[in-house]
Amino acid sequence: MNKGRNISEVPFFQLCNTCGSCYGLCPCEAIHFQETTGGYYLPIVNEEKCTRCGLCCEVCPGLHFDKTLMSKMPDDPFAGFSLGSFVGKATDRKLFDNSQSGGIVSALLVNALESGQIKGAVTVVMEPGNPPRPVVKIANSKEEIFQAQKSKYCPVPLLGFFKELKNHNGPIAIVGTPCHIHGLINVLDKIPKLKNKIGFTIGLMCDRILTYSALDYLLKRALQIDRNSSKVLYFRDKSVSGYPGDVHIFSDNGKSAVFSSETRIQIKDYFTPARCRLCFDKMNVFADITVGDPHGLEGVDRKLGESVLVVRTGLGSNIVQTALSYKAINIRPVHYAEILKGQDLTNKKEQWRGYVEAWKLTGRKLPDYYDRVKSHAIVPVNIKKYQQHLEYLFKLDDFQSREKLIRFVEKAVKKTQVANRILFPARITLRCFRKVTKIAKCFYGR
Ligand SMILES: Cc1cc2nc3c(=O)[nH]c(=O)nc-3n(C[C@H](O)[C@H](O)[C@H](O)COP(=O)(O)OP(=O)(O)OC[C@H]3O[C@@H](n4cnc5c(N)ncnc54)[C@H](O)[C@@H]3O)c2cc1C
Ligand code: SF4
Ligand code: SF4
Ligand code: SF4
Repeated sequence: MNKGRNISEVPFFQLCNTCGSCYGLCPCEAIHFQETTGGYYLPIVNEEKCTRCGLCCEVCPGLHFDKTLMSKMPDDPFAGFSLGSFVGKATDRKLFDNSQSGGIVSALLVNALESGQIKGAVTVVMEPGNPPRPVVKIANSKEEIFQAQKSKYCPVPLLGFFKELKNHNGPIAIVGTPCHIHGLINVLDKIPKLKNKIGFTIGLMCDRILTYSALDYLLKRALQIDRNSSKVLYFRDKSVSGYPGDVHIFSDNGKSAVFSSETRIQIKDYFTPARCRLCFDKMNVFADITVGDPHGLEGVDRKLGESVLVVRTGLGSNIVQTALSYKAINIRPVHYAEILKGQDLTNKKEQWRGYVEAWKLTGRKLPDYYDRVKSHAIVPVNIKKYQQHLEYLFKLDDFQSREKLIRFVEKAVKKTQVANRILFPARITLRCFRKVTKIAKCFYGR
């Protein structure tokens, strides 16, 4: 059906989520990735090498859900299905201290590796460099799983690992964001023999990534670090400031810089890829096990961190049971509804529909599963704000240079800070005034 086509149109229509499956599978080595001015990391097709076999289009989750994804779509695609949901942490102190949340992902991987359930795991390491960038590695030992801990909130063409898989006996576990898991399932539909090499999947909850420009923005702020040195950046490092963790940048000559999580949060909307705004699957509903932060839950260790964990399949249940029997994790049950509430799924639904409707108004293509999902999210009243935001995101690559984009964001952030400084006392005064008026009314009557 896709013969005669290749994926060139996917990045062109801003539908690419950098899953890496096209690159990992192309039989002609015709695809490579390139960073754009806005910080997207997008596939480019070498038309001279490309035979237009169409395979890349068939597996691309940016465009399309194949038969397994469509047939396994849960009744509520935003929430998915839970066989059991928990909160807890890794029992191994080293894995726990080095983790993003509670170290559950890494504890499950190490346990599955050491108990012989898998022979490796696909992971993402933040490679030191100038600038640092994430790289995909198949980890074959506890030490390699340790090195890949913490979340890289930026583009990662994870499914490029298919190139390496022919040299690996498997089975391997895959840890990935929802779009990685979608790509993987599409690939397995097209090439079923690869299923033998895949052990199980751990899906990370995912609201969005930030383009590489966000990394460069944060690196630029680290004035105390020599510009030419090789560096590492962690978006959230709980070892320097406790959970959930501040931005931590450190260089090979021992210098380091720490920025509050507020610094990261205030730039998110400026660097979110437009494609993430079309993504409904924050809860990673197709993975065997989903892991995330324990947002909004009561009785959680907020000082050192914990992970939430949702078991979605029998295979996932088996992996968690084995980890429990080896005492690799320490978890307690929590209602799935509480997890969904903590992840603000109601708001996610509204935003998703708002962005989708705004996207439609631009005349651009939508992923083909849109119709299957849309009835679960009502159209919000005000589409204009979504339109305005999308227009900004579509133009990220129109800045003349990365430097100019970063300067634009710096100025915008400063303006917001100044406005907040003025508005904050005004809001407090207004609130106090309202309270006093209310008390006075009660006291004196009308
Ligand atoms: C892009 C992104 C967005 C996220 N958004 C949310 C959210 O909205 N709500 C929420 O509750 N949780 C979110 N998470 C999950 C959260 O940040 C933690 O990853 C999760 O709680 C697991 O923590 P842990 O301590 O168990 O993992 P760790 O033991 O620290 O292990 C982390 C694992 O994640 C893998 N990994 C890191 N970055 C990536 C990446 N970009 N792509 C694929 N694999 C990666 C590493 O290879 C490692 O195996 C997000 C994660 C990512 C990567
Ligand atoms: S050779 Fe096939 S898989 Fe590779 S880019 Fe061309 S169409 Fe896509
Ligand atoms: S397969 Fe993945 S990386 Fe390739 S174009 Fe589609 S979404 Fe982008
Ligand atoms: S929000 Fe969706 S498209 Fe964006 S990185 Fe996460 S899973 Fe991928």
